[in-house]
Amino acid sequence: MMIVPQTLDLIGNTPLVRLDGPSKEAGCDIYGKCEFANPGASVKDRAALFIVKDAEERGLLEPGGMIVEGTAGNTGIGIALVANAKGYRTTIVMPETQSREKMDTLRALGAELITVPAAPYSNPGHFVHTSRRIAEETEGAVWANQFDNVANRRAHIETTATELWEQTDGTIDGFVCAAGTGGTIAGVGMGLKARNENVKIALADPHGAALYHFYAHGELKSEGSSVAEGIGQGRITGNLEDAPIDTQYRISDEEGLEWVARLLREEGLCLGLSSGINVAGAIALGKELGPGSKIATILCDTGFRYLSSLYNAEWLRSKNLPVFPWLEEQADQLV
Ligand code: PMP
Repeated sequence: MMIVPQTLDLIGNTPLVRLDGPSKEAGCDIYGKCEFANPGASVKDRAALFIVKDAEERGLLEPGGMIVEGTAGNTGIGIALVANAKGYRTTIVMPETQSREKMDTLRALGAELITVPAAPYSNPGHFVHTSRRIAEETEGAVWANQFDNVANRRAHIETTATELWEQTDGTIDGFVCAAGTGGTIAGVGMGLKARNENVKIALADPHGAALYHFYAHGELKSEGSSVAEGIGQGRITGNLEDAPIDTQYRISDEEGLEWVARLLREEGLCLGLSSGINVAGAIALGKELGPGSKIATILCDTGFRYLSSLYNAEWLRSKNLPVFPWLEEQADQLV
């Protein structure tokens, strides 16, 4: 056991766990990077730290300054904790469709929270444009701009990819994950390929996102929808430019939820839906690469962030999604 000198040193260096059920299903070794073990309980702490440090290095942040960001929530939580540890203020703009737990967490951390109606990216009221305007109009404020600021993917080139390489002693054969900003897939992809260009990088895209079609057919096009938070991109963000993606899978919410349920009941992991979609993608790549291969994916955040949605029978029913049987049983006992 070691003592770390400060909270921010707790970001990254997360464990890699072998996932038994997914490994059996794929016929090879599937590993999950435990990003829920970060202090803000998600993979986005890494990007938040790199974005804030980058703004400091560029001389954009004065002591007591403000960081403004538009986010599905996890980046906001990461930025709020980094800002608190460094003496900055945080303003977060979030679509009102995101989980109540994320909003409550942001308020609890002392961030100023502004919620806006969900809108297409082309609408000036979209949360990203709203956050940019607030930053421009506020003295001493910096816009984190996680989608196009490549300090985001640099976090994954320098930390996540390095850790995955070292944790597998350089024997990793493939990496799979979904994209929100694309920072994780692009950064890990670039970092791993710099060490071994034969490592396969695969995108697990939810329904409703446009990237599957882009990487398969060269054109951005989306179909259907997903309730997964934090993933599902409709454009090539700055972070996704030149991302070394070899192959892509489209994963349904039902398939992702099945792995969320199995990982919870069989392996004791309580995760969010993007993690389930990632694991389903990792199994697909594992089946392609065959026995003996080692595939890693990202366990992006904790399921405790979705108790009122993914782990709530009424909410699941309202979205026409299957209800985890043990949630039904609990409801019966209460009656
Ligand atoms: N899963 C969750 C729960 C997230 O919040 C995010 C970040 N938006 C992602 C996955 C995707 O990460 P990235 O932004 O690096 O593509």
